[in-house]
Amino acid sequence: MNVAEQVGQSTVKTFDAKKVRQDFPILDQNVNGQPLVYLDNAATTQKPNAVIDAISDYYRGYNSNVHRGAHSLSDKATAVFEAARETVATFVNSPKKEQIIWTRGTTEAVNLVAHSWGRANIAAGDKILVSTLEHHSNIVPWQMLAQDKGASLIPIPVSEKGEIDLQAFAALLDSRVKIVSIGHVSNALGTINPVKDIIAEAKKIGAKVFVDGAQAVAHFPVDVQSLNCDFYGFSGHKLFGPTGIGVLWGREELLNEMPPYHGGGEMIETCSFAGTTYNQLPYKFEAGTPDIAGAIGLAAAIQYLQCFDRDEVSAHEHDLLEYCHQRAATCEGLKRVGEAKNIAGVFSFLLEGAHPSDVGMLLDQQGVAVRTGHHCAQPLMDALHIPGTVRASFSIYNTRDDVDRLFAALEKVKQFL
Ligand code: PMP
Repeated sequence: MNVAEQVGQSTVKTFDAKKVRQDFPILDQNVNGQPLVYLDNAATTQKPNAVIDAISDYYRGYNSNVHRGAHSLSDKATAVFEAARETVATFVNSPKKEQIIWTRGTTEAVNLVAHSWGRANIAAGDKILVSTLEHHSNIVPWQMLAQDKGASLIPIPVSEKGEIDLQAFAALLDSRVKIVSIGHVSNALGTINPVKDIIAEAKKIGAKVFVDGAQAVAHFPVDVQSLNCDFYGFSGHKLFGPTGIGVLWGREELLNEMPPYHGGGEMIETCSFAGTTYNQLPYKFEAGTPDIAGAIGLAAAIQYLQCFDRDEVSAHEHDLLEYCHQRAATCEGLKRVGEAKNIAGVFSFLLEGAHPSDVGMLLDQQGVAVRTGHHCAQPLMDALHIPGTVRASFSIYNTRDDVDRLFAALEKVKQFL
């Protein structure tokens, strides 16, 4: 099943990426003397005017601290900031907006759960499972927790194609497994993991499940209730929003039981030297002045994305990947890395006889922006016995012309080899 089928749509209807490009001013420029082809969307997406304007409106019109409202500007900032939380809640189908915790990004969402839930619930001898596909931010916080507690962090193996070995996963499940933390979509290979099945299996033995949605939310709709996960994290900047803002969604009863992560203003109910009592959700986890402009920008990004038929967006991106794979099949010396059945947004490859970073540099000279290296997934690269890959990653505003430019540039790269 491909991405398009997964969201119930298999053909592009009226979606027009060339029109979408006009909403993203940064795309209209030359880089190294050539029109920019931006294929580094898995690292960060570009921002539409709607997001840039929302942030600018806030700073120009009603910049003020939130929840401290003795004046009108603060009241307005608070109302728009809390409306942004509501927008995110609807976006992931959260039962309540209080289950949306602002973080700095996916990394902080994982750290929050590892520190808060982890410290309260993980004991010596317990097991934490992650897949070998994970980004470092979904490995290292768990590793730190495991080291502190005398627990073990166990990697679920992946196949050569870049798919999680579900049989091996089932065999690893036992009563000592307390949490499974899985990426929804791999940033290095684009594999869409069968998280719903993984969650269902993990639930059978009572383990909690964290889903790292950093690479998923921009590509297809996410419904935390239908997934039945316990935690879901993502970053604003990979979803057309600003950097520095992200989201942790959590199951209400778990969030209520969890101790605070950071201490400071806003997260308290009362504070005295005799002791402090904590605020209710979501503020218990939001110490200090939040990224107000970031939250407002992220909500604007979500509203922008929701202007499109999400099925059409997925179908468009899938079409680009299919086209890329067709072109790759006739490109001599190119080897795809990651051939999972279900892939979103990412085309990872190697060029025979060339180091990925040299390929990236030569593409950049031709105005084509890609990412090269291990993509913060060193354990995956070790498992695949490669130093890294060249990664072209697609978004809503990319076109088949961009794919053509990539392959034309690769032909020139080969001439240098
Ligand atoms: N998980 C995945 C799958 C990612 O791709 C990334 C970013 N590359 C992260 C986590 C970390 O996201 P951030 O740096 O925005 O916290």
